[in-house]
Amino acid sequence: MTTLLEVSGVSVSFDGFRAINNLSVQFAEAELRAIIGPNGAGKTTFMDVVTGKTKPDEGRVIWGEKNISLLGMSESEIAMEGIGRKFQKPTVFEDQTVRQNLAMALKNPRGPFAVLWHKRTKANGARIEAIAEQIGLTAQLTRIAGELSHGQKQWLEIGMLLAQEPRLLLVDEPAAGMSVEEREKTTNILREAAKTRAVVVVEHDMEFVRRLGCKVTVLHEGSVLAEGSLDHVTRNQKVIDVYLGR
Ligand code: ADP
Repeated sequence: MTTLLEVSGVSVSFDGFRAINNLSVQFAEAELRAIIGPNGAGKTTFMDVVTGKTKPDEGRVIWGEKNISLLGMSESEIAMEGIGRKFQKPTVFEDQTVRQNLAMALKNPRGPFAVLWHKRTKANGARIEAIAEQIGLTAQLTRIAGELSHGQKQWLEIGMLLAQEPRLLLVDEPAAGMSVEEREKTTNILREAAKTRAVVVVEHDMEFVRRLGCKVTVLHEGSVLAEGSLDHVTRNQKVIDVYLGR
């Protein structure tokens, strides 16, 4: 197992309150992982640290050979390094077609969404079609994104992130507000995406985590409380106590 990202002894405080407390966690290449934990466990702050939005007070975030927490890299520089992030709410270009949205997102040596990259080359066209198929939106390629359902917008945004060819994709509650069928499809999209890159899903919905069928990391008070299969962690007494608020 090759380690892709190693978070080691990371702490983040806000006004003296430790949102992340000596957190150590590793992710492998092409792994699917779910991060769960009660409200306030530090899940968002963890994603903020990995994507460079928040700088840790202590500890290291090792990406390949680099300690990205030390280099003073901006969020966009870290994104260029291959770390993509999907926020909970879908953000697509509502007045553009699905094809145009994907075209704008294609990996670009000048950075994501740099202007003048809508080149209609054969290679770009094939790449867009492959991604549309992966996210189940082939039939919607010429549709205006604003007319898509909530689920379809979420898939489009996942597709836009895949178009940037990240090696790690962080996804925040992708199934929120989705129907059972949409959840099923989202599971398949994420599982398929994780065959060629690491996908880390922050999720509240245990049924969705069960469907993902992957290793789970439970965060509590900014540290790892338990790790393993969902069955393994949900049998852990400390996890049960935290979820029951004891
Ligand atoms: P989660 O995503 O698991 O709900 P968060 O990472 O959002 O947890 O928050 C962890 C803790 O840190 C919470 O107690 C939250 O109130 C606190 N926190 C997060 N961001 C800030 C901030 N910018 N200022 C002060 N406290 C914060």
